[in-house]
Amino acid sequence: MIGSTFYPISVSKAYTNRRKGIRHRPNTKKVWFVYGYEHDEIEDELSFKSYRINPIKALYHKMNMAKIKEYYCKDCKETSYCLTKGFEKINECSYCNSD
Ligand SMILES: [Zn+2]
Repeated sequence: MIGSTFYPISVSKAYTNRRKGIRHRPNTKKVWFVYGYEHDEIEDELSFKSYRINPIKALYHKMNMAKIKEYYCKDCKETSYCLTKGFEKINECSYCNSD
């Protein structure tokens, strides 16, 4: 989506047919789902989303899994938490940088 960033937090396989009382046969089709938070940069809103994806996208999302990281600021002695993508690092304090 344009103007939004998706932060995947979980990628999992699920059966397409999830109706009650149905036994999963070995050949039941499984599909990949990605769950995560979508940050709308225009509205500045965070919403929980899940998408049906293909196996290639599943791998891609696994590599870019979002993590909550913390950063301790020596200047204001505060710890800021931030939702990051993959190997992204926090190197600035959200307290000192907010005005
Ligand atoms: Zn600070």
